Amino acid sequence: MRTSLGRSLAAFLFVIALAVVGINAWSLWNDWHLKLSEREREARNLSVSLAKQAEDAFLQVDIILTDEVRQLKQNGPTYASTTAFKTQILEQQGKLPQLHGLFIYDKQGNWVATSGNYVPAKASNADRDYFIWHRTHDDMNVHIGRVIRSRSTGDLVIPVSMRLNDAFGNFAGVALATVKVDYFRQFYSYYSLGERDMLALILADTSVLYIRPLPDSYINRSLSSSPLFKSVLKVSDSGSATWRSALDGVDRVFGYARLERYPLIVTAGYDRDAARAEWVSENLVDLALNVVLLFIITGMGCFMLRQVKVNVRNQLELTLVRDELTSINHTLQSLALVDGLTGLANRRQFDVLLEKNLERSAKSGEPLSLIMVDIDYFKRYNDTYGHVAGDQCLKNVGAVLKNVIHRSDDIVARYGGEEFAIILPNTGPTDALKVAQRAVQAVLNAGLAHKATSVAGEVVTISAGCGTLVAKGDASEAEELKELADNALYHAKRNGRNRAVSGGSQPE
Ligand code: GH3
Ligand code: MG
Ligand code: MG
Repeated sequence: MRTSLGRSLAAFLFVIALAVVGINAWSLWNDWHLKLSEREREARNLSVSLAKQAEDAFLQVDIILTDEVRQLKQNGPTYASTTAFKTQILEQQGKLPQLHGLFIYDKQGNWVATSGNYVPAKASNADRDYFIWHRTHDDMNVHIGRVIRSRSTGDLVIPVSMRLNDAFGNFAGVALATVKVDYFRQFYSYYSLGERDMLALILADTSVLYIRPLPDSYINRSLSSSPLFKSVLKVSDSGSATWRSALDGVDRVFGYARLERYPLIVTAGYDRDAARAEWVSENLVDLALNVVLLFIITGMGCFMLRQVKVNVRNQLELTLVRDELTSINHTLQSLALVDGLTGLANRRQFDVLLEKNLERSAKSGEPLSLIMVDIDYFKRYNDTYGHVAGDQCLKNVGAVLKNVIHRSDDIVARYGGEEFAIILPNTGPTDALKVAQRAVQAVLNAGLAHKATSVAGEVVTISAGCGTLVAKGDASEAEELKELADNALYHAKRNGRNRAVSGGSQPE
């Protein structure tokens, strides 16, 4: 995670997961709204078609009542008690399935005529709401009342009535048609709807005439507190809206329509919870698949992140190991080529470098010089000061020799024991002797105490012998050059030490 690759991968995974969640949420939300608007459309259509059905049912009853009233007006009120009239209303009643009965009452509410066979004894309907209404209103239009229980059959019926007038326009009684509540019960049962979906026929005064699926005890209940009457119908006579039912507290998507001719309203309501359950079940598989997809993406992402982490760690470890190996390698290389005591090139390096410089000399034709250096009376030094001090002396002499050479190609090596060698590429015998003399002088000047020496001054001194040759490429030239220098060194020792002697160059 600490690498930029890990961070990019994590960001990429986060974006993918966010996209999956976002797209799903949007699609679910969209689907829910589509479902709701589909329900609203269905409810609206259903309420309109139920309104049409109700209007037709009441219109047919209205026509029959209007015809009766016209006949009684033409033939006088006594015509109601004739056999011809009774036969006629009996026939009419049989023609309409919604019609429960037809009745004529005089101005006292007494039964004058009925399409039924049964007339209750001393019956008077003067107490009925519709009777009182007609007696007190001279309106000649049809009146639809709240549901009543029939006195002749005991059925629940909707009274549809008209006022009868005498020749002077005074109240003369009521013509009544009763419409079966069961007719609507049956008609509404034809629709295959959910358990809590609702169909209702409502009187404009807010009372329920019939409501499905609630029991009959809800009939005649007032819906004045329902949003239908409080707000919805005030805005428009038909349409759709969602509200909580005032009767059972269920949220429904309602379609509603007010009838054109009659003071009736029809509503069709779909249970919102059922719609939600349907929406959930329709989307459950998709949702589950997407959750699985999300898990797979997250799982794969975590796996990949772990792989990246492991790879990065491995890489780091490899780099560390490589660095370690490189440093060990360097150490080993230097250990193999450097003299541990003096830090100068060791004998092995000296041999390699001497060969290389001989090859160069052979190629360039330039002279190559070698100075062999030996500390004077060093055995005595050890004997006097001990080996530890002897080692320190070797180190000091090495450091002095290192300072004597100035060219980067010149090499000072520890040849072995208390002997040193200086390789001087591109250097003739004269210059080589000068360097050797400088070296002798430098060690003398260093003033390293050596009280056992036979050289004057009681300081450590060296003897140096120089040899020079221009290589031709022969294999024996290294030995030849060393011999030249060594011979010169022998002469330097023989001539009193603390001096440099040139062995000259090889014979041309
Ligand atoms: P000369 O002037 O003739 O060269 O006399 P010398 O005593 O220097 O020569 P010799 O070859 O007899 O002795 C060399 C001594 O150098 C012998 C040995 O004890 C000492 N020596 C060689 N290598 C080392 C070393 O690495 N450390 C120390 N302390 N002494 C060494
Ligand atoms: Mg020696
Ligand atoms: Mg010596």
